Amino acid sequence: MQKGTIGVTTENIFPVIKKFLYSDHEIFLRELVSNAVDASQKLRTLASFGDFKGEVGDLDVRVTVDKEAGTLTVSDHGIGMDAADVEKYINQIAFSGAEDFLNKYKDTANSIIGHFGLGFYSAFMVAEKVVINSLSYKEGAEPVRWECDGSPEYSMGKGDRTERGTDIILYIDKESTEFLDQQRVDMLLRKYCRFLPIPVISGKEREWKDGEWKDTERDLVVNSTEPQWMKKPADLTDADYLKFYQDLYPGEEEPLFWIHLNVDFPFTLTGILYFPKIKNNFDINRNRIQLYCNQVYVTDSVEGVVPEFMQLLQGVIDSPDIPLNVSRSYLQADSAVKKISGYITKKVAARLDELFRADRAAFEKKWDDIRIFIVYGMLTDEKFCDAAMKFLLLRDTEGRYFTLDEYKTLVEASQTNADGKIVYLYATDPTAQYNYIKAANDKGYNVLLLDGQLDNHFVGLLERKLENTELVRVDSDVVDNLIRKSDRRSAGLTPVETAILSRLFEADTRKVEKASFTVQFEALAPTDQPIVLTQNEYMRRMKEMAALQPGMSFYGELPDNYQLVVNTEHPLVKSIKEQADKELESTVKPLLDTIDQKNAEADKIRKDAGDKALSAEDEQKVKDLEKEVADARASQSEAIDAYARKAPEVSQLVDLALLGNGLLRGQQLADFIARSVEMMEKK
Ligand code: ADP
Repeated sequence: MQKGTIGVTTENIFPVIKKFLYSDHEIFLRELVSNAVDASQKLRTLASFGDFKGEVGDLDVRVTVDKEAGTLTVSDHGIGMDAADVEKYINQIAFSGAEDFLNKYKDTANSIIGHFGLGFYSAFMVAEKVVINSLSYKEGAEPVRWECDGSPEYSMGKGDRTERGTDIILYIDKESTEFLDQQRVDMLLRKYCRFLPIPVISGKEREWKDGEWKDTERDLVVNSTEPQWMKKPADLTDADYLKFYQDLYPGEEEPLFWIHLNVDFPFTLTGILYFPKIKNNFDINRNRIQLYCNQVYVTDSVEGVVPEFMQLLQGVIDSPDIPLNVSRSYLQADSAVKKISGYITKKVAARLDELFRADRAAFEKKWDDIRIFIVYGMLTDEKFCDAAMKFLLLRDTEGRYFTLDEYKTLVEASQTNADGKIVYLYATDPTAQYNYIKAANDKGYNVLLLDGQLDNHFVGLLERKLENTELVRVDSDVVDNLIRKSDRRSAGLTPVETAILSRLFEADTRKVEKASFTVQFEALAPTDQPIVLTQNEYMRRMKEMAALQPGMSFYGELPDNYQLVVNTEHPLVKSIKEQADKELESTVKPLLDTIDQKNAEADKIRKDAGDKALSAEDEQKVKDLEKEVADARASQSEAIDAYARKAPEVSQLVDLALLGNGLLRGQQLADFIARSVEMMEKK
């Protein structure tokens, strides 16, 4: 019996393994089964080159648990090892500074294993003793038995295995007895070994008999050795792709379409990506792409390997060229990974373009389901954005779809403003903005529907990408001003009229919570609405964008700003104006004159003083004047408010405008209803 010390440079690697790989104990199974599969494939290769002349036989890998003995065994019929192999591959771990390395990369320890010859030793995460029983394929080879209890000392001697291949026997330690549960082991094998190229058997198939689950005679094969992504696209039907999808994501709605990835230069990558129906809740669908390395499952977190927006897709990517032994941040900077990521992006864009060209009608049908993916991609990936401009569809409020070029052609003639800019109108909520959409349509304008989760940002993106084009929400101004063709017609009010009407129309808006209003007068068509509430495009966007920024959420708390646009040409407004003029002019005019006069006096005193400070006397004078102005203002407001109480039609008009925008609530709504009834009774 040979005794020796395992050739690692650190004093004892096992505690290191246990400590740092703690969270990922289960991956030992992946490592051991992968080794067994590798050994089996090597034998197959040797045989195919004529370097192994014996009987290949069945190459199944078998994982067996023995609860009583406390062991888990991984057996193969691969190339096996002789004493020299064990010495070379197991005893001399080709690894220097293991501890330093693990310290540095402890977060990614999962991926280090297997890439640095530590795979086999991961067995010690769960075992107190490991035995290797092996017989090499080489002619006349002696069986070898190796044993190690987790200290750096091992013993090695003649073994008793009579069949070619290797048994790795783990004496599972007390903390890891979960790995003695056949069902748990099955589950792990399904997770990690599901698509390994050699059949992996985990115990027997079970069946329900006489009131309990019983093992049958049939072996339970946990993997499918030829996963679809390894096959040629030409050999696969739609049904095959859909079946594979169901295997990967049981019970999920059918995907919209898929892309088969297949490159071997300048890197090797295969895979199938599926487009699921992405509704608005896309966050929960993250991490649905599985990453494989030569059919061995590695992870379902592909962050860094594919662009963020691709993480909305599902499916499988298999590449031996993705360096898994590095941290995530490094991964993103890795040039091979960048190439891979770029390739996938290009492929996905090309596939979308192809679908669009092949069958426009079918593409339109799927559009609403893939739109968020495309918009997300355009917002976050410049290259994808440029590619997507060709198949991007815009949808109008009538449900028609247009490419960017088509849309430009559609609206260019009628929606170009006085500055020569094309104005695209859009709605975000067709029900709430119904009135505005209708007004725009009546004027011959088209309105786009941009009601998606990301459309705030998308509006800005379109403006950056489209030349000479501006996007304006349909309720951001009265329809005549949305696309300004010439200068506004002045409302032509005298100062007295302005003072009276501003106060009159403003009064009711002051009761609305979390909103502020500016009264504005416009000479619109007599047939337009008497009052229109609008929300300035720029202000609204600022608020919406700011609310999305972390730490800026107080912006979201700010009141919404509305313009209460009063149509001075509307007959109702005209009669309100005339009536108010008649009743109030005699009161308001002198007050307004006083205000103007006192203000002018105060200004003169300040002006005469120039840069110098006011004398005490002047200071008092200015103060007195300011007070007189304030008093005059108060009297003016009082007079107007008193009049307003007798003139319910103003409140009625304002309330109707508020009602049309869902802003009339609570007490104010109750008052409105009561007032309406009262006014009807009077008639
Ligand atoms: P890696 O698989 O990354 O090379 P491991 O520590 O898992 O690192 O294995 C070291 C080596 O031991 C393998 O490269 C292989 O030569 C040998 N080996 C491990 N398991 C087996 C097995 N079941 N059959 C034959 N050789 C094996």
